[in-house]
Amino acid sequence: MEEKRFFLSNKSLADDFNLLITALNASSTSIILTDNQQPDNPIIFCNKAFEVMTGYTRNEIIGRNCRFLQGNDRQQEGRFRIKEAVEKGESITVELRNYRKNGSQFWNELYMSPIRNQNNQITHFIGVQNDITSRKKIEAELHSEREMLEKRVHERTLNLKASEEYQRSIVETVRESLMVLGQDIKVISANEFFYKTFRVSPKETVSKSLYELGNGQWNIPSLRYLLEKVLPNNNPFENFEVEHDFPNIGKKIMVLNARRIDVEGNYKNRILLAIEDISERRQADIRKDDFLSVASHELKTPLTTVKGYIQMLEIMIPARQDQKLFEITHKADNYINKLSGLITDLLDVSKLRAGKLELSKKPFDFDAMISSCVETVQAGTKSHTIDVTGQTEITFDGDENRIEQVMTNLLTNAIKYSPDATRVAVHLNVINEFVKVTVTDFGLGINEEDQKKIFERFYRVGSIQKDFPGMGIGLYVCEQIVKSHNGSLWVESEEGKGATFSFTLPYLFNNQNQNDAEI
Ligand code: ADP
Repeated sequence: MEEKRFFLSNKSLADDFNLLITALNASSTSIILTDNQQPDNPIIFCNKAFEVMTGYTRNEIIGRNCRFLQGNDRQQEGRFRIKEAVEKGESITVELRNYRKNGSQFWNELYMSPIRNQNNQITHFIGVQNDITSRKKIEAELHSEREMLEKRVHERTLNLKASEEYQRSIVETVRESLMVLGQDIKVISANEFFYKTFRVSPKETVSKSLYELGNGQWNIPSLRYLLEKVLPNNNPFENFEVEHDFPNIGKKIMVLNARRIDVEGNYKNRILLAIEDISERRQADIRKDDFLSVASHELKTPLTTVKGYIQMLEIMIPARQDQKLFEITHKADNYINKLSGLITDLLDVSKLRAGKLELSKKPFDFDAMISSCVETVQAGTKSHTIDVTGQTEITFDGDENRIEQVMTNLLTNAIKYSPDATRVAVHLNVINEFVKVTVTDFGLGINEEDQKKIFERFYRVGSIQKDFPGMGIGLYVCEQIVKSHNGSLWVESEEGKGATFSFTLPYLFNNQNQNDAEI
């Protein structure tokens, strides 16, 4: 036995023992020894670091089983693993929740190993322990941060999926063909409506250049120019009309709108192309125009006959003999004139639509035409005074009746739509090679949105429709007449503050085809 002892020094065994104890006490790692041969495996040695870590003094530690550090927190996984290792006589490393003398919790990383005697019986256990509370805290924080991050990623993914689904359902629901084009105008994707309308499959479409689709049906020079030259500088382009005879579906009239797609502030050569098929709408428009033309012609003929009979009656009634009858026929004649005026307006629209409104251009005194027109309208109203200022002193070469029609329309509108006002102002002047006429009223005015639409045929401002009679074609006809003289007509207005309609006409415009021109 003696020979086998390992001496640390050449002094006595007691010296060696003291040296070992001093060394263990100098260690910053907590170390304990338990005696497995005594009941309940008590602690028989602890170093200084163990006292510091637990807050207990040596006197309070020696003789106790290690579990006193766990307090009532007994249901710990580590504890069961220790039990198992002790039974099997194996070494083990576990992490335990332990409690200091003052009750505060700390995490203890315990390495436990059996010590055997010469007969290979376990006599003791050594426990080497470290306070890993800070490490555990960081680990816990990292864990919760990772969990939070995962949760956020999950939520974002769900949101993204939902918004993708939302966008996809919009794209697939719209009754308009949509395409996304990429580099070199190649199709990246198209919606179902596109495939249905043009009777093509995704296989025939995706990754192909727009221009080579089908029989090269989209290889239209003006479309190429718009997509390649105009769109890069003018985003978006709108309402480009295309007519094409397609092999599968026949002739189509389409309106194209294109927009470069901004991806994170970068255009990345993506273009959204929307194709609206307006063929049916066009057909319906044509049918409406045809109806308008037939209806107004059919109404005009009997009306002209009725007017003839009324005039005959007026002649046949001896003057002043039957005053009542005379008044009735006179009123009837007035109403027939009104009706005839409305039908003439409708006829004008249908002629304009067919490009058959005839102009009879010859020189006339512009100021005199305006004066006569103002006089006629003034005669028909007691509520308003029409003030005229300025003059042009121009002999204008154009269709006098048609320009008078424009002026009459603007004046009657000015009176009609200013029921509470008493004045309408007309101003004439010459600017460079143009005569300019402005008609200002102090009535209802027109909001900005409606200002863009009132020159469309049959458009009437919704809010006042009920209170004022009309068909919504006067301004449409006026604009076409002014345009046919190479002029322009526009409105400036603020709702509730009246409106100013102005038109300019070039009096030096080219003299070709001046007479009996068609528009
Ligand atoms: P109509 O007067 O028969 O409705 P118009 O084509 O002459 O048809 O005018 C179109 C619409 O423009 C009118 O219905 C009215 O809503 C609006 N409008 C025209 N002139 C004026 C005006 N001077 N002030 C306010 N609104 C006007």
